[in-house]
Amino acid sequence: MPLAELLGQDLARTRLSFMVESGRVPPALLFVGPQGVGKALAALFFVQALSCPKRDEGDACGHCPSCLQVQRQLYPDFLMVEPEKRQIKIEQVRELQDFISFAPVVGERRVVIIKDAHLLNQPAANALLKTLEEPCATVSFILLSHRHNLLPATVLSRCLMLPFVSLSGPTIVQILARQRVKGEVGEVDLEEAAAWSGGSMERAIFFLDVENLRWCRDFVNSFSLLPGNSLRAALDLAEEASQFGSLEVLFFLLRSFLHDTMLYAQGLHVQGDENPALSLSGWSGKVEAFANLGVQPLLLMRQQLLVIERGQAVNVNLKLAFEAFFMDVATAYCSGQ
Ligand SMILES: [Zn+2]
Repeated sequence: MPLAELLGQDLARTRLSFMVESGRVPPALLFVGPQGVGKALAALFFVQALSCPKRDEGDACGHCPSCLQVQRQLYPDFLMVEPEKRQIKIEQVRELQDFISFAPVVGERRVVIIKDAHLLNQPAANALLKTLEEPCATVSFILLSHRHNLLPATVLSRCLMLPFVSLSGPTIVQILARQRVKGEVGEVDLEEAAAWSGGSMERAIFFLDVENLRWCRDFVNSFSLLPGNSLRAALDLAEEASQFGSLEVLFFLLRSFLHDTMLYAQGLHVQGDENPALSLSGWSGKVEAFANLGVQPLLLMRQQLLVIERGQAVNVNLKLAFEAFFMDVATAYCSGQ
């Protein structure tokens, strides 16, 4: 029973099952929530549940020919649209419009999943909107996005939003263990990978690699020691950061560390390591020292980081951007107070 196996997303799972069981399927759904928490998986399970001839209590059987075809993306009434080079173009929307112009072949409806829907470019979003404005009983859309605020309000208003939440540490450990990754790495690594994941399965899997974990520990440590450190140290760190394998993880670490320091600087933290509001566990000592810089410099850093993160989408020179950022952090004591 695929939907039943969706861990950590009880609200979404319950509502999707209810839609299948009651037959009240909205013309357009929008799954929102952080990256790597199961939105795409839930969408596939939902399509299985809608198409499965043996479905029971709003869930698919998971092993009939129809369920297997959906899983392999070979089901004739199902189309998956994914960004190409960080964009969903109008040609792709035209293709999906062509796909839904035909009646369902085997099932009761045709379903289109659009991954990373916030990457629809303007003409594509306009074209999709026209389709969403003329809903059809035999067509359903499922849009997935971790940045749905970037979608046009007109598109948002046509979709029923379904929130997905960050996964808890124990849930991530449970999923990793279930995927039999557990056999290859020790129990301790699963726990630590989960602790560093920020509730994202993608990151948790990334952190199962001991090298990645070690690099990130060293990186956060070096960053925490930057204020008051030499400009040479800032340049070295920029060099390393620009060569690291996952920018998504890198930005997540910096964002999380700065988030935690803001809590300390504003006195909103609770004493001790186990404060659930903290993004990174086990770093309270370093975070507290860093927070002594004061709220204003920290706000500036967060702003600067945001600009770099946005810039990476338009191919900004990351090494230069990190050099400027880390040098500012190194000299924050001189300029910030
Ligand atoms: Zn089935």
